[in-house]
Amino acid sequence: MEYDVVIGLEIHAELKTKTKVFCSCKNEFGAKPNANTCPVCTGMPGALPIINRHAVELCIKAGLCFGCSISEYAVMERKNYFYPDLAKAYQISQMVHPICIGGGIELKSGKLMRLNRIHLEEDAGKLTHISRAVGTLVDYNRGGTPLIEIVTEPDFSTAEEVDEFLKRVRESLIYAGIADCKMEEGGMRCDVNLSLKPKGSQVLGTRTEMKNLNSFKSVTRAIEYEIKRQEEILDEGGKIIQETRKWDDAKGKNLSMRTKEQAQDYRYFPDPDILPISISKSDVERIKEEMPMLPEDRRKRYVEEFGLPEYDAAILTSSKYVSDYFEKCVKIFDSPKKISNWIMVDLLKLVKEQEDFVFPISEEDLCEIIKMVEEKIINKTVGLQLLDAVIKTGKKPSVLAKEMNLIVTISEKQILLLLQKLKSENAKVSEDYAKEPQKVVGFIVGYVMKNTAGKANAELVKSLIQKVF
Ligand code: ADP
Ligand code: MG
Ligand code: ZN
Repeated sequence: MEYDVVIGLEIHAELKTKTKVFCSCKNEFGAKPNANTCPVCTGMPGALPIINRHAVELCIKAGLCFGCSISEYAVMERKNYFYPDLAKAYQISQMVHPICIGGGIELKSGKLMRLNRIHLEEDAGKLTHISRAVGTLVDYNRGGTPLIEIVTEPDFSTAEEVDEFLKRVRESLIYAGIADCKMEEGGMRCDVNLSLKPKGSQVLGTRTEMKNLNSFKSVTRAIEYEIKRQEEILDEGGKIIQETRKWDDAKGKNLSMRTKEQAQDYRYFPDPDILPISISKSDVERIKEEMPMLPEDRRKRYVEEFGLPEYDAAILTSSKYVSDYFEKCVKIFDSPKKISNWIMVDLLKLVKEQEDFVFPISEEDLCEIIKMVEEKIINKTVGLQLLDAVIKTGKKPSVLAKEMNLIVTISEKQILLLLQKLKSENAKVSEDYAKEPQKVVGFIVGYVMKNTAGKANAELVKSLIQKVF
């Protein structure tokens, strides 16, 4: 039988705040176990939470990234369940009045993936199960650190759509300074809800929820596995059980964690210790003004306003740093395509192996070199030598060009003499030129370059070839 695949996502991202969301403990990764704890985040009786304004603002920012409407009135609620990673026996989250409602992301295909909501909540601590004899270690450093949860509508039908969506979410959260989304540190996690229904049917099927997905690859693999698993059950006339399944990336399969029958009733209710949050229009306006332009908007601008190919736009926006660098260059020297070429071909190659890189030359200096090349004061080969020298010495391009004697203009007359020499020494060149000029132009230019130490102006050489040959 043929089926439609229906997928909805719940994405958690750790917010980039200095402190936790309901106390003033540090929010940092990798500290000594339980170093960042206090009575509030370890759930001591009588301890009272406060709310981190920055965390609320970052949640609003996330909403603005994805076109959500921002609630004027939001409420923190208690989600009750007992598990030792949660010392209070409840997680402070949001249910009825989340901070952000609606919104969505349009995929390249034009298909809109709608969001249901984005809410603010606290993370739980970390359990490390050692063995039955030794027991389990508890680290509450992560307990009480702020998370946003992005919940989508069940609008996805393929693993590719999910992959594109997750990459866009991650990119935007990083650009806007909301979250680092380091997947290997658990900074962004995704739960996948998936069901099948007979092709064309309007009724949604029974879904499973897969947890423990912390890389793009594992999300794709898990979806493909789960589609097959459900297909096989349905084809044999079986029923899908609504349950939570845990993805095992090493084994490449998922296992049942708990069925919905056993699932908790969370008994949500408004946290009486935390006042409702009121968000004014002027707060939202102020936060909007702090937002940088997002990668998708930048890509559009690069193509439409700067006339760059999509390919360039995609590479230049691959990180906010590169994109900001490029835009600063364009402000200094209005030649977007030339700048793009230098960055993509000559600068990115220098930092290829580095993850958090900084280009080894300032925007001003790079533009100075590009300008010299464009104004034909030096040619590209010399420009690259100059780039190398600026990086090594830190001196200004104009100063170095003089010091290194790079701005030697080879005169028209010298070029003509060289061309005539070549013509008289090598009759075959003239013959070939007469037959198929474009086949030998490269060779002739190369000859002149070789005999001028690469300092002749290639355009000028090309125009003089016609005169001589
Ligand atoms: P719960 O609160 O039980 O987790 P929600 O209604 O909040 O359930 O939905 C959680 C996620 O599951 C959402 O991303 C939603 O889009 C998705 N979802 C809901 N129903 C289905 C379905 N039948 N198939 C696939 N995904 C679904
Ligand atoms: Mg859920
Ligand atoms: Zn604390």
